[in-house]
Amino acid sequence: MNSAQAKAEAHFDAVHTERLDAEQAVQSSAEEAIRCRTEIETPVEDEKPAFTPATSNDRSQNPLRPSSLDQVVGQTRAKAMMRRVIDAASGRGDILDHVLMVGPAGTGKTTFANIIAIEMGRDCYQVSAPVSFETLMGLREVMKDGDVLFIDEIHMQAVAERRGGEAMSAPEVFLQLLEDFVIATPEGMVPFPHITVIGATTDPGRLPDPFLDRFPLQPRLEAYTGAELEQIAEFSARRLGMTLMPGVARRFGEAARGTPRIVNNYLKNAGALVGPDRYVMPIIADQVLGDLNGVTEEGLTPQMQDALTFLYTRCRHKRPDGQVVYKASVNGIATAIGLSRDTKAVQLRVEPFLIQRGLVQVGSGGRALTDAGVKRAKELAHA
Ligand code: ADP
Repeated sequence: MNSAQAKAEAHFDAVHTERLDAEQAVQSSAEEAIRCRTEIETPVEDEKPAFTPATSNDRSQNPLRPSSLDQVVGQTRAKAMMRRVIDAASGRGDILDHVLMVGPAGTGKTTFANIIAIEMGRDCYQVSAPVSFETLMGLREVMKDGDVLFIDEIHMQAVAERRGGEAMSAPEVFLQLLEDFVIATPEGMVPFPHITVIGATTDPGRLPDPFLDRFPLQPRLEAYTGAELEQIAEFSARRLGMTLMPGVARRFGEAARGTPRIVNNYLKNAGALVGPDRYVMPIIADQVLGDLNGVTEEGLTPQMQDALTFLYTRCRHKRPDGQVVYKASVNGIATAIGLSRDTKAVQLRVEPFLIQRGLVQVGSGGRALTDAGVKRAKELAHA
């Protein structure tokens, strides 16, 4: 047997074993899809179908999510692009091409996916990658041509990783679904509805070319400006029945690190502190930002502040040419700020915003304060 045959047989065996567990797995995959479909849990009733689309009731469950392209704040280019292709596909009676949404967490990928489905007049099903073979088979039963399948963290589907003991469908099975709307089963190919897959990723670098190439539409989410985040704060406050006193929306926007979800979180915090009149006074903004979240006015989290002060107070080196640098390894930063050498956490949650704001730069063998970083770290160290 050559290696291709061996591989095919191993794959067949894996798929077959998965099939034997189908009944139990369909049950658990149904739970997985339901768990992922909205931000708020709903009770699962026995007689409900295995998968329920999110679009029909998502708005009532998450009042903060815009429900039309016109309500989406900012993202002018992505909105214009999606408006054109949605109108064109609807006009022709066609199914929308697959869409890949790229952007950091909390910046609108799920929002766009739901809106695309609403604007196309279709149902949106929501799952998180890696999607198992059973989940795909369950979705095959309930989805209709033209429906939208939103797959969060789609980069997890592209690599043969395992998570939580549940086997994911092989990347090839998934690629074939995207391309030909069929699924390979032990009995042969079975048809899948002609759907639009909307993949979301924070990490497009982990998607290999065959994956990227199967998403003809790739709108890029742009960074939100302070003014846009302020607008989102006002919109979300209205939805939560609160009134923001002058200056509060601006402060929440400025401290949100360019992320709408963080604005919403500040508002939810404020909602827990306001009185019965639901007015958010500046003192409440102080409590939300300072006491509850420990962030600075520009949104530096306690860990980011610790990283800056660590570099400034403990990592001063004089180079042979006399120049002073403040530099440490990522490992050293992780240990110093209490992340027990978890360098990934530093790379994901601490340094991107510091680099983006020009406070830290990546250098050979570590991270160093820029001139602006030295100035800010000095202020923090003396605060
Ligand atoms: P992601 O899927 O990228 O993690 P979401 O789409 O879930 O982010 O966005 C989180 C929340 O932020 C949404 O529920 C919505 O309230 C708000 N939001 C995100 N993008 C926008 C936007 N462009 N305009 C208005 N609100 C937004």
